[in-house]
Amino acid sequence: MARSTIIGVIGRGTPIDRDKLSLLPGVQQVVPVTHPYKIASREFHPDDTLVPLNGIEVGGPNLAIIAGPCSVESREQIIETAHAVREAGATALRGGAFKPRTSPYSFQGLGEEGLRYLAEAREATGLPVVTEVMDPALVPLVCDYADVLQVGARNMQNYALLHAVGESQHPVLLKRGMSNTIEELLMAAEYILSHGNMRVMLCERGIRTFETYTRNTFDINAIPVLKHISHLPVIADPSHAVGKWEYVEAVAMGAVAAGADGIIVEVHMHPEIAQSDGQQSLKPERFAALVEKLRQLAPVVGRQVAPSPQVVEPHA
Ligand code: PEP
Ligand code: MN
Repeated sequence: MARSTIIGVIGRGTPIDRDKLSLLPGVQQVVPVTHPYKIASREFHPDDTLVPLNGIEVGGPNLAIIAGPCSVESREQIIETAHAVREAGATALRGGAFKPRTSPYSFQGLGEEGLRYLAEAREATGLPVVTEVMDPALVPLVCDYADVLQVGARNMQNYALLHAVGESQHPVLLKRGMSNTIEELLMAAEYILSHGNMRVMLCERGIRTFETYTRNTFDINAIPVLKHISHLPVIADPSHAVGKWEYVEAVAMGAVAAGADGIIVEVHMHPEIAQSDGQQSLKPERFAALVEKLRQLAPVVGRQVAPSPQVVEPHA
């Protein structure tokens, strides 16, 4: 099979003379990347980017199913929830230790203690951990405990943070800001990519519209659009998009049908006493039912739900 190598030229310098480049030996074609996001653009990288996560490649045929509570509340809570979501078929565990809360009087998360509990939950279940980092100075600390760094919607344009996560080699889940356009999301991704970290997953988590019945409005359009114009995997967050647990399943199914590479869903053992986002959290049984439905839907869109991590049997 013929292979070609694409060399991307980016930077703030003077415009490049295309004719000179095309005369160089080995150059087949010079293609100007027309979008302002260069590295994130599919013109630059026609193949899908695959981000490794717990034995699957996010962006490939296996759907990533990231599940867990909004916040890590206690050691017992996160370990119990990790077992429950793993049993139901989750690929990774989510849980916030540093919480970006609208009110300074709301629960702010357990901080490093929460990170330690997440690491214990990973130890107990084999599930990799997805957790938010809000402060550039804390990126190395969060990297010590987490497998995926989440950049929250409120921090999508925190350039110091994008720079810091771009310097790490940890996969990043970059959430779309609640009032940001698709292009702004890709420009935020570009900051991370241009600092050398290519493991970026984009996340559509709902945007603000005039509609107030739901917490946000899930922009389903963003999924096929992002898949078309970028090579980065796209994860859907139906929990924050809709804000009410009753509708999470339908939105998750819609997102996967539209081409999402995975979902991130809030699951709580006892949503009525959750410290944050209980109203949009699924109980484990409902989460298990959602995974079952996704198992049926996935083949229709050329996907599958990856098997849960198995306990490795010792060789006979
Ligand atoms: C979260 O994942 O709990 C969260 C705070 O999400 P977002 O940044 O999308 O609001
Ligand atoms: Mn939440």
